Amino acid sequence: MSAVNPLSYLTEQLQAWREAGTYQTLRELQSACEPVARVDGREVINLASNNYLGLADHPKLIEAAVEATRKYGAGSGAVRTISGTMSLHLELERRIAEFKHVEACVVFQSGFTANSGTVSAILGPDDHIVSDELNHASIIDGCRLSKAKIKVFPHRDAAAADAILSELSGLPGRKLLITDGVFSMDGDIAPLPELVDVAERYGAIMMLDDAHASGVLGGAGRGTVDHFGLHGRVHIQVGTLSKAIGCLGGYICGSRDLVEFLYHRGRPFLFSTSHPPGVAAACLAAFDLLEQEPERIQALWDNTRYFKKNLCEAGFATGSSETPITPIMVGEAAAAHAYSRALFDEGVLATGIGFPTVAKGKARVRTIVTATHTRDQLDRALDILTRVAKRLDILAAA
Ligand SMILES: *Cc1c(COP(=O)(O)O)cnc(C)c1O
Repeated sequence: MSAVNPLSYLTEQLQAWREAGTYQTLRELQSACEPVARVDGREVINLASNNYLGLADHPKLIEAAVEATRKYGAGSGAVRTISGTMSLHLELERRIAEFKHVEACVVFQSGFTANSGTVSAILGPDDHIVSDELNHASIIDGCRLSKAKIKVFPHRDAAAADAILSELSGLPGRKLLITDGVFSMDGDIAPLPELVDVAERYGAIMMLDDAHASGVLGGAGRGTVDHFGLHGRVHIQVGTLSKAIGCLGGYICGSRDLVEFLYHRGRPFLFSTSHPPGVAAACLAAFDLLEQEPERIQALWDNTRYFKKNLCEAGFATGSSETPITPIMVGEAAAAHAYSRALFDEGVLATGIGFPTVAKGKARVRTIVTATHTRDQLDRALDILTRVAKRLDILAAA
């Protein structure tokens, strides 16, 4: 039988991407996620992870995961609302709430589900969302799932958000103002003090996605709210356990009633199994380390300043980054991917990012330094970045 393949349009699309130079293969990580990692059979300086503090393979996290796994098993056995709420989950939530100086916290399976599950739970078709144009995909999906009306404001433009909320102020329905704390593709920071003022002016809910800021910004890595001294003025804070915390998961911080509401209506919380105990235990160990070893965050920022300064001096266009995420602006997606491939051949792993992750014409190679990169590794990376850029005319393009 030679039936027609109804999925042949996928094959055609893949071929089109190959021709456009934007077809992506998955790189295979063959070691732990370390500053120098083994990828596709070679040792490369890793500028492509979110393992900001080097916790992903920290002995204390590994030990905690192994111990909890031996004691409580490999899996939790159920969703949270049936029988999958273990003591470790509740302990982790109490720990995060304390860390963030908020009343309560609920953990989701990922930052992605925390965003998509929360926005869709608290809003409905009669409500309004005012969202930064560069907000993360999981926020966008949550907004769409809520069926609320979505208005997008230009990136970091609090005055534009104000104007939109002013227009909406006569209309019925709840208003949500939502932003990333640190933007994942640009490394810049939301103008949170201004946005909080705007939200308060119109009685809107203020929601902040701090995935890239938790463990990075603020005292002991408490995030953007702490960085700007805005405790008590952001109603919903999202964090991830998958980046600086080094494990997997996401969480929502806010009032006890917000958290209990999500117990009832957060669909990923209700319909998807809770974390394995080993993951929860490793996350707990990570929060201990954040408070016990502040020098990790210091090292992250020392490396960040050093790396950025040298990139600038070499003549790279690095956008408006203020954090360990530093994009090297290239322009066309095919050029960004070609630069990334050439860097890999010379021993640096840094991802090429193009449309639809970023706007057309704003393709880039994204670099992320961590606390655990040595100066020697950063110097070697800078040397390779510059040498390859000169060869490919990236510096001229910038
Ligand atoms: C990475 C990221 C997420 C998703 O977090 P995961 O825990 O990896 O699912 C959500 N929001 C932002 C801004 C992110 O950068």
